[in-house]
Amino acid sequence: MNIAFQGRNISIKNPNICPHCHIVNTPHVQWQVETRNTDNTPTLITAWTCSNEMCKKIFIASYKEDGQSAKFDRFLNGLPKGPEWPKPINDLKSGNPKINEQPEQTRFIKTYLQSLVAENSGLDELAGMGFRKSIEYLVKDWAIQNKPEDKEKIENSWLGAVIKDYYTGDLKEILERATWLGNDQAHYNRIFEEYDIDVLKELIALIMVELDRQFKMKHYIDNIQKRK
Ligand SMILES: [Zn+2]
Repeated sequence: MNIAFQGRNISIKNPNICPHCHIVNTPHVQWQVETRNTDNTPTLITAWTCSNEMCKKIFIASYKEDGQSAKFDRFLNGLPKGPEWPKPINDLKSGNPKINEQPEQTRFIKTYLQSLVAENSGLDELAGMGFRKSIEYLVKDWAIQNKPEDKEKIENSWLGAVIKDYYTGDLKEILERATWLGNDQAHYNRIFEEYDIDVLKELIALIMVELDRQFKMKHYIDNIQKRK
C-alpha cells in the first residue's frame, strides 16, 4: 500500500495475517495516523479489518521509519500464536466443568498463552511466573486424567510431590528441571541465572511431545489387540 509518511509518499507492506485468528488473509486498511514512538522515532499506526469471515476483528499494526521507507514493527493488539498443541493436551479437562456447560479451556493452554502475551509485552518477570504456573496445571490435570480416583489428593499436593508420585523416567527428570527453572522465576534470588525463559519454554515443549507420545502409544496398545 502507498501511504504518506514524513511528508513523502512511501510504500509499506500490508499485513497478510491477522493477530487474532492467525489466518492468512488480505486485511482491509481502515485508517492510519503518523505519531512518535516513546524513543521519539517517527511511527506509523495503521488499523485493519481481518477479511476472514469467521473473525472480522480490527487489529492495529505499527510501522517504524526505515530510511526512505517504513517497515512493519509489530501488532499492537491480538494474541501471539502459541505452539501447535498436541491433541491430547488440547483435549485435557481442567477444573470441574458443570453439566451442560461448555468445558473451560485447558488451564495449561490458557495460562501459557497469557504468559506469552506478558513476554511479548516485555513483562518478563510476570511471564516467567506464568510459565511456572502453566506447568503446574499441566502436571496436575494430566495426573488426574490418568488417575481420576486420586483427584483430591493430586489437587492438594505440592507440584514436586505429584511429579514424584505420578511420573517416571526421563519425563519425570525433565518435569523436575522445568519446575526448578520455573520456581527460580518466582523467587527473589535466582539460582539458575544462566537459564532464561526460552529454556523454560523449550522444556515445556519437550514435555508436551513426550506426553503426546505416551498418550498415543497407550491408545494403540490398548486398542489394537491380537487376533487369531
Ligand atoms: Zn482474523
